[in-house]
Amino acid sequence: MPVKNHIALPPGSVVGIFGGGQLGRMMAVAAAQMGYHTHIYVDEIGSPAIEVSHSHTIASYSDEERLKNFSQEVDVATYEFENIPVNSLREVEKLVPVYPKPDILEIAQDRVAEKDFCNELGIPTAPYWRVTDLEILEASLSELGRPGLLKSTRFGYDGKNQIKVKIGDNLGDAWSRIGGGPGVLEGWMDYEREISVIVVRTQSGDVQCYDPVENEHKNYVLHRSIVPARISSETKEAAVNSAKHLAVSLDLVGVLAVEMFVMKDGTITINEMAPRPHNSGHWTIEACASSQFEQLIRCICGVPLGSCARNADAEMQNLLGDEVNDWLVYLGEPSQRLHLYGKGEIRAGRKMGHVTSLKPLSKHL
Ligand code: AMP
Repeated sequence: MPVKNHIALPPGSVVGIFGGGQLGRMMAVAAAQMGYHTHIYVDEIGSPAIEVSHSHTIASYSDEERLKNFSQEVDVATYEFENIPVNSLREVEKLVPVYPKPDILEIAQDRVAEKDFCNELGIPTAPYWRVTDLEILEASLSELGRPGLLKSTRFGYDGKNQIKVKIGDNLGDAWSRIGGGPGVLEGWMDYEREISVIVVRTQSGDVQCYDPVENEHKNYVLHRSIVPARISSETKEAAVNSAKHLAVSLDLVGVLAVEMFVMKDGTITINEMAPRPHNSGHWTIEACASSQFEQLIRCICGVPLGSCARNADAEMQNLLGDEVNDWLVYLGEPSQRLHLYGKGEIRAGRKMGHVTSLKPLSKHL
């Protein structure tokens, strides 16, 4: 079957989304506003995206038959989380365009491949070693000569499968705590602050960035994002240029979030990247003409970009676990914009919603 035409999909076209979490939910809302339908493909019931979407498939991400049916029902496909099997996306891509390209996801799924890609472009990361057994871990740590962070190469997020290590620690224990590898040992970065840059790029190569965001984590999980980030104009320029360089080099179509450390001398190093809208970009819904979710839909549907320009300063706070019980307090405060994800069960640390507050636009750097 020929690949369907993907240039400027008209309203009424169907956007397929792999994954059914809050990112998929906010993508579906943005798509609906532009007159598109969404079809969610997810492997579990009760997903936040389903209740705001036109149609859905609940099946394993490796179910060939269901993947084929899905491909025939959508006009373009994307994904909202990173652990979709790349081979499944490649199967879908035989029938319908998938953006960002599965090759990009393949790089982002592996912390070592991601760091190799950045360094080959001359964009620095923490020093790192691919670790496949305990002996290599011991040798890498002594070569590093300072504390490091041991992470699994895959399936790690929000601090899961990562542990700080130093010479003299019980490395066997650390190795089993990240699941026994494969892993990556990164040098511990004594950074000044964490920022992220969200870059968007169309099929014809138009590229824009949102202003860099400053991110505060609690227990390795994003707690608060503040924009504009408190960084110098030189650091801002370096951060934005690196994000654009990555997007162009990856031949991105869609949205790429690039997490960075700002070092004490103002230089930046890349922590990781995600080829999808990002938790640190939720503020764009209220503070920008076009949100990160809308820009994704524009890019993959082949319509021109909106504007990433910021109309206000903003602060976004995640509501984790029972913090969501304060929902009425937020709704009672007109300056706060509450987003609840419709998740039934409150679990400790679970992202239940977020709240954004706007402030008058400060002078651009
Ligand atoms: P990650 O899962 O790689 O995004 O890491 C989660 C958080 O752990 C980051 O946002 C940082 O706060 C922290 N972190 C990750 N890598 C390093 C590192 N090499 N040095 C110091 N802190 C790190």
